[in-house]
Amino acid sequence: MSVSAAIDYVTLASDIKAWARELGFADVGIAGTDLGADEGYLERWLAEGHHGEMDYMARHGTRRSRPAELEPGTLRVVSVRMDYVPPGTANAWEVIRDSDKAYVARYALGRDYHKVMRNRLQKLASRIQERVGDFSYRAYVDSAPVLEKAIARNAGLGWIGKHTVLINKRAGSYFFLGELYTDLPLPVDEPASAHCGSCRRCIDICPTQAIVGPYRLDARRCISYLTIELKGSIPVELREPMGNRVFGCDDCQLICPWNKFAQEATEPDFAPRHSLDGPRLVDLFAWSEQEFLSRTEGMAIRRTGYEGWLRNIAVGLGNADTSDAIVAALRARIDDPSPVVREHVAWALARHG
Ligand code: SF4
Repeated sequence: MSVSAAIDYVTLASDIKAWARELGFADVGIAGTDLGADEGYLERWLAEGHHGEMDYMARHGTRRSRPAELEPGTLRVVSVRMDYVPPGTANAWEVIRDSDKAYVARYALGRDYHKVMRNRLQKLASRIQERVGDFSYRAYVDSAPVLEKAIARNAGLGWIGKHTVLINKRAGSYFFLGELYTDLPLPVDEPASAHCGSCRRCIDICPTQAIVGPYRLDARRCISYLTIELKGSIPVELREPMGNRVFGCDDCQLICPWNKFAQEATEPDFAPRHSLDGPRLVDLFAWSEQEFLSRTEGMAIRRTGYEGWLRNIAVGLGNADTSDAIVAALRARIDDPSPVVREHVAWALARHG
């Protein structure tokens, strides 16, 4: 179905931005579909094998870097962002430095953002439809092969930092991204300029040296990958530097000077559940599979699975200061049905002598 030729796209673009903000998005911009330079970057990253077991990164060919191949007819991408750290969240460095505690990446503490953001994008599309009639669109939140950071940069939402995360000058980097692909020929925004300068704090602080050079992330060493994407055994040499990070890692963002401008989340669904912003390792390790499934329902943490959850916590317990409670918690799982968990428990117990 076609859109009326009489549409004033300049006004429409400005209305879309106002509606997006009304819907709770912190920022919105509009990008075209040319991602040529980023396509080359992606190809090199894949050729170097830096994606590890994330085969889905390679599976879609050029559909990831050419929006119109993913959704035919796409001319523009409306890019949105939403801050995710709620007020009152426990201090991240204090949790990381307390070896009895478990660190969960700040984006994963509350309700899974995919549904929240997709619902909002759907509402945004409905408002556009009320104005222009039927038009072609697709809403994505991590749900398809989309080069979301490059698109967001082109839409003016920020630059890709040396740690490969998007940074916004006024809001740091603790935010989610979502996209609305559309066939509306809206005016595009100016891409954001880069402001890392000579800084390299994220490269230097990475516990596993996963940032192998500016803008080059070897996911195979990244704690986010190891604790979430990787199935099976975690390479032994990377276990100690993981510390107590049991789901994801934020160090490269925590150290980034631009995060002094980070904005608090306004979305109540992102509030930490089950005190996961600073839980004790032994308490999490005691969760039964049923408790894991019920407590993580609707949360991103589900993604690691119960076996991965126990595996990650076993590593954290192996890195904790020795105590009777920690040794007892590990011994309680020495005969765990999962060989992966058993192996990590044995490694952790050996660390406690
Ligand atoms: S820590 Fe420094 S180099 Fe790394 S992303 Fe932030 S500003 Fe850029």
